[in-house]
Parts: sequence; structure tokens; C-alpha cells
Amino acid sequence: MRKLKFISIIIPCYNEEEVIEATHQRMTSIMEGILKGSKCGSYEILYVNDGSNDGTQKVLDGIFARDNRARILVLRRNFGLQGALCAGLAMAQGDAAVTIDADLQDPPEKIEEMIGFYEQGFDLVLGVREDRQTDTFLKRFTAEGFYNFIKILGVEIVHHHGDFRLMARPLIDEFNTLTERNRFIRAMVLSLDNQYARVFYKRQARQQGTTKFSFGKMLSFSLDGILSFTFMPLRIVSIAGVLCCLLALAGGIYILYSDMAGHVLPGWTSTVLPMFIFSGIQLLSLGIIGEYIGRLYVEVKQRPLFSVRRELKH
Ligand code: UDP
Ligand code: MG
Repeated sequence: MRKLKFISIIIPCYNEEEVIEATHQRMTSIMEGILKGSKCGSYEILYVNDGSNDGTQKVLDGIFARDNRARILVLRRNFGLQGALCAGLAMAQGDAAVTIDADLQDPPEKIEEMIGFYEQGFDLVLGVREDRQTDTFLKRFTAEGFYNFIKILGVEIVHHHGDFRLMARPLIDEFNTLTERNRFIRAMVLSLDNQYARVFYKRQARQQGTTKFSFGKMLSFSLDGILSFTFMPLRIVSIAGVLCCLLALAGGIYILYSDMAGHVLPGWTSTVLPMFIFSGIQLLSLGIIGEYIGRLYVEVKQRPLFSVRRELKH
């Protein structure tokens, strides 16, 4: 059985001043319990301040001053959750790391179970929500729709798994060598390792503060998930193109036939309608191709995924 010596708990924080104190207390008491049960030798709690513009840093400074297991990473701006998680994984020192949201909607009590799977040899342990009852109807609806859609497109993901997961050192090291910029970590880790364990839990409602995901952020995250992992949209465009050509051919034959048979052609409809349809399809196709080109552009630039302003470390 593999024993866990040192674990990093990575907590991304974006404008979380209301929740961090309570989170730290609960996390510390759970980790101390885990140490007592000798499931783990030691731990660090690594907070990644993802460019917050509220009092988050002040609260983190306070925690750092009184707890020498706390480590703070201050990013230069808001890099988004995926960027913050990558920063945490790049800087974590543990033999394993758990990523968990600052609002503790995912229960940290489950970390012990995750460590149990680590001991059995799993390098990847995924937290999986049993239901989405605490989410708003809109979130549930859009999330379900998105996951079903992305699955049809052929992207491998685990249903109801967010970013609550344990990764072991070998997998973290491998993950850190990936250079792609458009990040959809929950699918990236599966592309590295398909032997994972699952830990099931009920997701709690957010106790304080509000969600940090605006509609725009969710949309861009979903697009990254689709476009970084599948060429299916491009293929759909090609198939639609072929179908349109066949349709145009059939239409052309029909028009020629009507013309030769001396029928009066209804001029407006037959001219304008196809124009609308085909220009619509063309624009859509260009848009999808443009999305991929945009992503290629981002990859080619190889800008840093995150940039650390400073690190507080004991
Ligand atoms: N978060 C982040 N950067 C962002 C947006 C969110 O680091 O740009 C963090 C946030 O502080 C929290 C986690 O990501 O720890 C999940 O955010 P939230 O709870 O708002 O998401 P939801 O539960 O609504 O999906
Ligand atoms: Mg949340």
C-alpha cells in the first residue's frame, strides 16, 4: 500500500473575502483529523489569489501570518479558474494535490476517501456530484445540456465531475508539461489517465458570496471544452456543406426540368430563399473555422498560463 507523506490542498480564490476564513477553519480541522488518523504525514493549504479586487488578499495575509501550513500565491491578474488551478498545480509541493473550490460546495470531508484511493495506487481520483439539486434551474439546465452535447461530440468527460479531484505527483508532473493554452482541465486529466477512482458526494449550496462565473465566463469555458477537444464541429460543417451541395444539385435539376416543361417559375421565393439558407450556412461554417483558427493563434503565441506576482511561503 502506498502511503501519502505530504498533500497540497489547492484553493483558487477570486473575490472570496466572505468565505475564506470559514473555509480555512473547516479545512484545517479536517486535515488535522486526517493527520491524526495517520492517513497522511503533513499538508499545505495553497491559496491561489486569482486577481481578486476585494479584500481577499487581506484575509489571506491574516491566515498566512498565523498558520505556517498556509501558502499564498498571488497572481498578477484574473486568469480564470483554469489558470488559477494550473498555477496551483505548478507550485504544489505535495506527493498528491487536491483541488477544491473556496466556497466548499464540494465537501472536504471526502478528501480522506480520496486519499484511501491514492493508497490503493490510483493517481487520479475524481469527485462526482450525486445530484445538482443545490444549483439553480438555469445552471442545471445549461450544465446538463452542455455535458450531453460535448459527449455526443466525442469529448471524454465524467458526468457530474467538476474540479474537485486528487492527483498524484507523477500525474501532476506530467500535467505540468502540457503546453496547450486553451484549458479544460477535467478533460485534460482524463486524456492523461483513464484509470481513475470516483468519490461520490452531494454538492452543498454556496453559504456566502455569489458565484464567480458570469455567463460570459461559462460560455468561454464551454467553448474551450468543445473546441480544444474535438474536431467534430468542423466535420459537421463539412457534412452540412456536402448536404447543401446535394440539395442544390437536386434543386437545380428540378428548376431545369420546370423550365423545360414551360412552367412559370415563382421568381422571388426560389431566388431569395436559397440565398438566405446558403449564406447562413456559409457564415456559420466560417464562424466555426474562425473559432479554431482563433485557438490556434492563442496556442502559437504560447503566452504564460498565469503569472505570479509574489508567493508567501513559510
Ligand atoms: N474562481 C477563480 N477564478 C475565476 C472564477 C472563479 O479562481 O475567475 C474560483 C472561485 O473563487 C471558487 C471556484 O473558482 O473557488 C469556483 O467558483 P464558484 O464557486 O463561483 O463557481 P460555481 O460553484 O458557481 O460553479
Ligand atoms: Mg461554487
